[in-house]
Parts: sequence; structure tokens; C-alpha cells
Amino acid sequence: MLLFTPGPTPVPESVRQAMATPTLHHRTPEFEAIFAQARTRLFDLMQTDEVVMIASSGTGAMEAAVTNLCHDTLLNINAGKFGERFGKIAQAHGLGSVEIRHEWDTPATAEEVLETLETHPQIDAIAIQISESAGGLRHPVETIAAAVKAQHSDVMIIADGITAVGVEPIDTTHIDALIAGSQKALMLPPGLAILGLSNAAVAKIGVGKGYYLNLATEIKKQRQNTTAYTAATTLVIGVEKILSAIEAEGGLDVLYDRTARRARATRTALEALGLHSYPRTPAPSMTTIDDPDANAIRSALKEQYGVNVAGGQDHLKGKIFRINQMGLVAPHEAAWVVNAVELALDGLGRRPYDGTANRFFNAIYYGLEGAQ
Ligand SMILES: *Cc1c(COP(=O)(O)O)cnc(C)c1O
Repeated sequence: MLLFTPGPTPVPESVRQAMATPTLHHRTPEFEAIFAQARTRLFDLMQTDEVVMIASSGTGAMEAAVTNLCHDTLLNINAGKFGERFGKIAQAHGLGSVEIRHEWDTPATAEEVLETLETHPQIDAIAIQISESAGGLRHPVETIAAAVKAQHSDVMIIADGITAVGVEPIDTTHIDALIAGSQKALMLPPGLAILGLSNAAVAKIGVGKGYYLNLATEIKKQRQNTTAYTAATTLVIGVEKILSAIEAEGGLDVLYDRTARRARATRTALEALGLHSYPRTPAPSMTTIDDPDANAIRSALKEQYGVNVAGGQDHLKGKIFRINQMGLVAPHEAAWVVNAVELALDGLGRRPYDGTANRFFNAIYYGLEGAQ
């Protein structure tokens, strides 16, 4: 079965092998050397002034960013499940909470964020997804962050990049906290979250907040290539290995270029079948199709063609399906997925199979655009 869900994503064989070595004690020079290498590679990936790894799923880093960087009121952008989660975290910690809410296909704008800051001057941090995985939506985070900083330089920008870091280049100039998670674009098992921080964020953190998720404690330790509590040693080995595997494939720019081409090739191929791409501004992390037969298409993919794609949640349950684009995905696998969708549509009596999806996919992925 091909795993094409936007998280978890398949773990490459070389990375699985590296993580299968005997357990290292975390307070040893051997492990500290691996930690240092992983940390160096993460600085390259995150493009931020500071980096910390936390043994938790991605939500742990979302919570750490909110509690350490928001001291009064959080503005969260809710255009999907993950954006909604930021508001719930703020409320769970007794912080003020203001929300901008959108349908899951609609990106936030800098104008509405600035207006909300005018009417709620107590907001001291903004939390937003770069790629909102609920609907495959790309928010214009860099534009929003630049506009906010131009007028409110003290407001912290928390960017959830769990399905964006390792997928596409992110301009971190105006971002204070950038969040990544192991089981999405980093192609690792779940359990490790990564936070990139600006110098301004580190200054605001001060002595930190909370206990396990106190970022001041972690920053201090991780600058010495160790962790405050037991490190997720296996996953830290995995981080080092996957980032060196990406380098061996040509580096991050090559990965970003292949991902962008594959995402565009997939979307164009499915649109050529008459299907509709759901988000108004699609993220390259996944291809999201809204369709009345979404469930039937997903079942056919799984039962007849060996492909596992994700469905929708909440009000989009049964109405969308999402195809992963994150990670080192082989083009022949992605080409099979669009072909399988075309076969499924034929099976549902929607459209006779004629090879359109593969023709469009190959034409775009391999740059033979005349061949469409
Ligand atoms: C998966 C995901 C998360 C975090 O989920 P965890 O299950 O806690 O790892 C957060 N934000 C986005 C955009 C995601 O896709």
C-alpha cells in the first residue's frame, strides 16, 4: 500500500536503519556529538536565530510557543482544525484569545490582521499556520508577518510550519517562532517537534513559562548540545540522518523544487480530469480535492489500487480527499496516484479512462508542457 496521507509520511529505509542501532545513553559524548550535528542541520533547515528540539508531537511545540511568547492575548487564525487549536491552547492557559475565522478554503489577509490589532491592542502574539492541513490551504504568512512588524514590532509571530518546513522555502525574516514536526515533511516517526526562534523571541521568553515546555530551560541546555530532560535519542538520530539524506539528493533547494513541481503536476492532472482543487491558495504540501464522491474515490484507491490518501475532518468529512506531497516522494509513485484516481473515476462511471492524468502529470513534472 502506498502511504500518501499528509502525515504520517513514509520513513526512508536508510533512516529506519539508522534508527535501529542500539540505544545510546543521552548523557554521553557520543550522543552529544549526534545532537550537535542534528542541531547544525536544523539551523540550515529552519533559517532562524535559535533552534530547540522537544520530545512531543507537533502540538507540544504549538503549546510551548504560545505559553512562552504570548503573555497577554493571542490572535489565532482559524481556517481549519490546526488554527483552531492555537485558540484552544491560549484558552486552556487562561490567556486572552481573539480569533479570525474563515472557511477552510480561504486564506487570511494582512488587512484583517492589522484591523484586528487596532481593535484589540492587548494582542501580543499572533498564531497562524503556514500550511493549514485541514484543507491544504497556504496562508500568506510572510506578507502578514511583514505588515504586522512594520506597525507593531513587539507583536510575536508564531508560524506553524508543520506541513511547510521541508516542503517549501519560508522567509523567516519577520517570524518569531517557526514550528516543525517529525512525522510530516521530515519523514520521521512521530514524537519530535522543532521550534525555530528569532532573537526577539528568545528575549521575550526571558526565564520562560511552565515546566516541561519551558523554552528558557531548553535553550540553555541545547546550546550545550544536550536537553533538559531525556532526549528522544532515536528521533534525534533520525533528524540528522534525514537531513543528510536530503543533502545527498541535492539539498533543500532541490527538494523544494521537486515538491513544487510534483504538487503542480498532481493538481493540474486532477483538474484535467474535471476535479476541483479545494483551497483558494493551495499549499504545496498536499493536493486537496473537494468532490461529492470523495469517499468512494478514497475507498477505490485503497481497495483496488493500493493507495492510502486522507479524507476530511469535521464539516469536510466525506467531502474532500488529500494527497500528500511532503518528503522524498518518487515521481513514479505520484504518477501512479493520479492514474489511480482516473481509474477510480472510470469505475464510478464518471469519466471513461483515457490516460489524461498521467499525460498531464508527466508533461508538467518533466517540463514537456507542449505534450499536454
Ligand atoms: C499535524 C499538524 C499539527 C500537529 O499535530 P500533532 O498530531 O500534534 O503532531 C499541527 N499543525 C499542522 C498544520 C499539522 O498538519
